[in-house]
Amino acid sequence: MAKIKMITPIVEMDGDEMTRILWQIIKDELLLPYIDLKTEYYDLGLQHRDDTNDQVTVDAAMAAKKYGVAVKCATITPNAQRVEEYKLKEMWRSPNGTIRSIMDGTVFRAPIIVKGIDPYVQNWTKPITIARHAYGDVYKSVEIIAPGPGKAELVFTGEDGTVIKETIQEFDSPGVLQGMHNMNKSIESFARSCFNFAVDTKQDLWFATKDTISKKYDHTFKDVFQEVYETEYKEKFEELNIEYFYTLIDDVVARVVRSEGGYIWACKNYDGDVMSDLVATAYGSLAMMTSVLVSPDGKYEYEAAHGTVQRHYYKHLKGEETSTNSVATIFAWTGALRKRGELDGIQELQEFADKLEKATIGVIEDGSMTKDLALITSNKDAKTLNSQEFIHAIKERLEA
Ligand code: NAD
Repeated sequence: MAKIKMITPIVEMDGDEMTRILWQIIKDELLLPYIDLKTEYYDLGLQHRDDTNDQVTVDAAMAAKKYGVAVKCATITPNAQRVEEYKLKEMWRSPNGTIRSIMDGTVFRAPIIVKGIDPYVQNWTKPITIARHAYGDVYKSVEIIAPGPGKAELVFTGEDGTVIKETIQEFDSPGVLQGMHNMNKSIESFARSCFNFAVDTKQDLWFATKDTISKKYDHTFKDVFQEVYETEYKEKFEELNIEYFYTLIDDVVARVVRSEGGYIWACKNYDGDVMSDLVATAYGSLAMMTSVLVSPDGKYEYEAAHGTVQRHYYKHLKGEETSTNSVATIFAWTGALRKRGELDGIQELQEFADKLEKATIGVIEDGSMTKDLALITSNKDAKTLNSQEFIHAIKERLEA
C-alpha cells in the first residue's frame, strides 16, 4: 500500500527517559510504515539541551510558531538531583515553560475515555477539557511577612506620576500579605486561545471566577472574556450552535460534578492548577490525559500530560520488562497528524489519525492493556501487556 504523503513538516520534539523509548517504537511501528512522515526534528533530550545551552528548546518553539503544528515527547525538568545525574552546566528551565512563553499559549488537557476505565464520577461520559491560564496571579506574586503591628498599603505609581493607593490592612499583630497581578493582554490571549479551541473542537466553553468578591481583579477577567466573545466570536459560536457560559467558580464546580462532560472549562491560573489534577484523577489515569498548547493565533503543540515515567526507565536500563502506557503519547501524534491534515487539506492523514486512535481504544476495550490500566479496569479478564506488546497489538488491529 502506498504511504500517505505529507506537505508541511510537523515539528517533532524528542524527549527523555521511558517516553523517549516509547517515542521511537511508536514511530517505527505505528507511523513510518504508513506515512511518508515529514518532520523537522529537535532533540529536547536533557543531554542535548545541555550541549546546546538550551538553545534547541528555543529553536523548537520558534519552529512550532513557524509551521503551526508540533508534537512533543515528555522531557525532564531538571532539579538538583538531575543536575548531578546528567552533570549539567546549569539547572535549565522547564522546556514546557520556555515553549509556552514563546508561543504565548494556553494548555488544554483532556482525558481519553475508554470503556472499562470508568471515571469516579459516573455521569462523566464525555471528556472535560481543562484550559489553564498560565500567567500571573499567585504564581507571580510578591509576599511579605508582617513582623508586627503596622499598616500595609497597595500602591500603583503611573509613568505619568499618578498615584493610586489603597490600605490593605492596619495590622495590630503579626500577619502575612501578598501582592499579585495580571495583564489585560495576557487575559485576552488566554480568552482567544479558549474561544478558538472551542470553535475548533465544537464544544461549549465555560469560564468562572469569583467576581462577586473580587470586584476589580476577577471582574476584569470576566469583562475581558465577555468583550472578546462579543466582538470576535459570538457569530461563530452561534453558527456552530455552541455556547459561551460564565458563572461563579463555586457554581461551576457544582455544575461540573453533575454534568456529563463534553465542554471546555477555562480556569484562572490557580483554579487550573488544582482542578486539572482533580479532573485527571477522577477520570482514572494520568497516563490517559492528552495535552495541547494552543497559541492565540492558532498554532498547536501536542503532547501527553504525564512525565517521562522515570521509574520504568531505570527498570528498562536494567534490562527488566516494563509495561508503560503509550496511549497519551500516541494521541499526541494523532492530534498533530490530524491538525496537519486539516491545515494542508490531506483527508487521508486525518483518517489515519482517526483509525489509529480507534485501534488504540479498541485494544484496551477488548481487554489488552498496560499494567497501570489493568490495575484499575472493571474488566475482570484484562490481560496485561508489556510496553512493546501493547504497541504491537495496536499495530495488528490497525492492519486488520
Ligand atoms: P510522571 O508523569 O512521569 O509519573 C508520575 C506517576 O505516574 C508515576 O508513578 C508513574 O509510574 C505514573 N505514570 C505516568 N505516566 C505513566 C505511563 N505513561 N504509564 C504508566 N505509568 C505512568 O511524573 P514524575 O515521576 O513526577 O516525573 C518524571 C519526570 O518527568 C521528571 O523529570 C519531570 O520533570 C518530568 N515531567 C515532564 C512533563 C512534561 O514534559 N510535560 C510533565 C511532568 C513531569
